[in-house]
Parts: sequence; C-alpha cells; structure tokens
Amino acid sequence: MDLIAGIDRKLGQLAEQSLTRKLRVADSACAPRQVVDGRPMLAFCSNDYLGLAAHPQVVEALREGASRYGAGSGASHLVSGHSRAHALLEERLAGWMAPHLEQPRALYLCTGYMANLAVLTAFGADADAMIFSEALNHASLIDGARLAKAGVSVYPHGEVAALERQLADSRAATKIVVTDSVFSMDGNLAPLPELLALCERHGAWLVVDDAHGFGVLGENGRGALEHFGLRSPNLVYMGTLGKAAGVGGAFIAAHASVIELLVQRARPYIYTTAAPPALAHALQASLDIIAGPEGAERRAHLGALVAQLRDALRLRDWRLMASNTAIQPVVIGANEDALRVAAALHEQGLWVPAIRPPTVAPGTARLRVTLSAAHTFDEVARLARALNELEKTAP
Ligand SMILES: *Cc1c(COP(=O)(O)O)cnc(C)c1O
Repeated sequence: MDLIAGIDRKLGQLAEQSLTRKLRVADSACAPRQVVDGRPMLAFCSNDYLGLAAHPQVVEALREGASRYGAGSGASHLVSGHSRAHALLEERLAGWMAPHLEQPRALYLCTGYMANLAVLTAFGADADAMIFSEALNHASLIDGARLAKAGVSVYPHGEVAALERQLADSRAATKIVVTDSVFSMDGNLAPLPELLALCERHGAWLVVDDAHGFGVLGENGRGALEHFGLRSPNLVYMGTLGKAAGVGGAFIAAHASVIELLVQRARPYIYTTAAPPALAHALQASLDIIAGPEGAERRAHLGALVAQLRDALRLRDWRLMASNTAIQPVVIGANEDALRVAAALHEQGLWVPAIRPPTVAPGTARLRVTLSAAHTFDEVARLARALNELEKTAP
C-alpha cells in the first residue's frame, strides 16, 4: 500500500495546483457537433482542421483499405509489414513535396511523435552533433533531442539572431536546427525563410515539424514550405496525418539519402509494428481532397472563420494571441481561472480545452480554441458571444 500511497501523494499535489487533467469520452465521430460523455457538445478542440476525420470519402476509403489489406500489418516494415498501401502513399507524398526538396523520398511512420524521435535520434546519433532546438518546440521534439546522443542547445522563441550566434560558436560536426512551423499552443509561425537562410549559411540541417501546417497552409495545402515558397537540400520535413489529413500517422520527406538513413538506423521506425495499411489507403482519399478544389474551399472557409472569430472577440483582460492559423488561443493566466472558464463554457455545451503547464509556461494558462472547416459561421459566433460574456462577468 505504501507504493500506491506515494503515487496518490503525487496526484494530490497536481490537484492542489489545478494541474489534474481529465479524460473525456467521445461517443461519436470527431466533428464540431459531438456527443461527449453522453451529452451533445459543440467542440473547439480538435486538430481536424479540414473536417476530414469523419469525411464520407475518407471513411469509405478506410473500409476499402481494410477489405483489401486486412486490419493489421502483422510486423514491422523491415520484417514483412510494409504493404503496397504504405509504398503508394510514400510515393505520392514524395511527389507532392517535390517542389520543396531535392531528390525527395518520403517515409510513413505510425505517429508524429515517433517521426520526431526517428529524425532526431538518427541525425543526432553522434556525440559530435548538435541539435539547436526552438524554445517552444513540441514535446516530441524535446524528447527526441533528449534521446539523441547529440548535444542540445535551446534558442529563445523566434530569435533568429540568438540562433545565429549559437551556430557561429558551434564546432559540431553535424548541426541540426529543429522547429515547429506553427507553434501548437500559440498558433504563430516560425520565421522559416530566415531560419533556412541561416542553416544554408552554416551548413546546418533544418528539421521542420509541420504538424499544424500540412493540409492547411499553402495554396495547395502542402504546408509551411509551400506557404513560404521554400526549397532546399538542407530541409527535412515532418508532416503529421492525424490532424488536417484526418486519419493518423506521419511522414518524413527529405533527400532520398536522408530517408535511407532513417530506414537503416531510426529505431522508432525499425522496432515497431507498421501502421495498419488501411490507414495509408484512407490517406490517399484525404490527399485527393486536400489537393483538389474541395480542399481549397475548405481552407478558404477555415480562413474566413478565423477572421470572424478574431473580429468578434472583445477581450480586455484575457489576451487573444497573435495568430492567423486555426489555433486561436485565449490566454487567461492562472490555472484555476482557465479551468473555471473552460467549465463555464462546458456548462453551455461548448467544449474548449484549458491548457496548463507544463504544456505552456506557468502563468499563461489558456483556452486553446481550434477552428475547423467543418464549423459554421453561426457556431463560431456562438463561441465568441459566450467568451465575451464570460469575460465581462469574470471575478
Ligand atoms: C501533434 C503534434 C505532434 C505529434 O504528432 P502525432 O501524430 O499526434 O503523434 C508532433 N509535433 C507537433 C507540433 C504536434 O502538434
């Protein structure tokens, strides 16, 4: 019992700081109108930015993929789990990213978390390598850097000049700069053109985690590289496929030699069962939509919803962060205040998550509002009204 008592003490400390997180059970498909714990809710939480997670064409493709390839892959990729569905998806993704990379090849992995571990541990495998990591990077990049044998140097958020000094002072044999393209809890963009110019000058790799850009940014939805019009042999691109693409998994696209190194050396790729091939098959339907006229329409609608929300919010003490993406955080400050507002929204049938440390810095607890092309203008207006009212009546 002492063992359990020790755990319960730790859990008690989290509760005292308003840091306990709670699982909610979704009884219906991911969509703005969702049944959660048995109750209808209007959700502003998911990263399903284009509304593809429950799109009939994607769901049908998943069914077709399961009929053709079965439920599971049965083994890791290098043993026998690499199916035609995986190979076709990788070919398509490589072709898709070709405007931005030299001799591109793509590799599909089970999750973005694992893709980031794969890239950083394979690139940072030697002690004479150095990883230069942006301060607000996603936890999976932080963990990848921790797991790598390379040294790690964190540069302050958005500060290209500070990174330049770090690069100039470094004697590392391999230099790897790594950044989120869209910061997941803030919604703003990294200065990728400046970062890439710096990397080219200093012979460094630039690893871009485009979890929140792929499918959404750029005229054709190819993500942050398309948005900024970037192309370079120094780029290593990571796009996740469980957010805007609505299914699951992630891919790395880079020069074919980089990808071959990952196939040979990246443990999060090698030592895990390949994702079900049906997912890769369903992703072809997602890519059809993202690349086609419907994708363009969905991106345009999402952009209009973002503008509508920013225009409609009238906040004095709470702070709407400077973001043009689907991530529209409202900073409230104290953990308990953010929780209280999220609970008040919940009472009204509005589901918005309160994000607290360690995901964000202490004192910057926030509501992380995310919009999706599946939302309507009326739904966004309802959220804006509720937030404006709640702030007015806040103690
Ligand atoms: C979600 C996310 C990941 C992880 O991707 P998964 O496919 O969900 O594992 C990586 N990086 C960023 C910035 C993310 O937001």
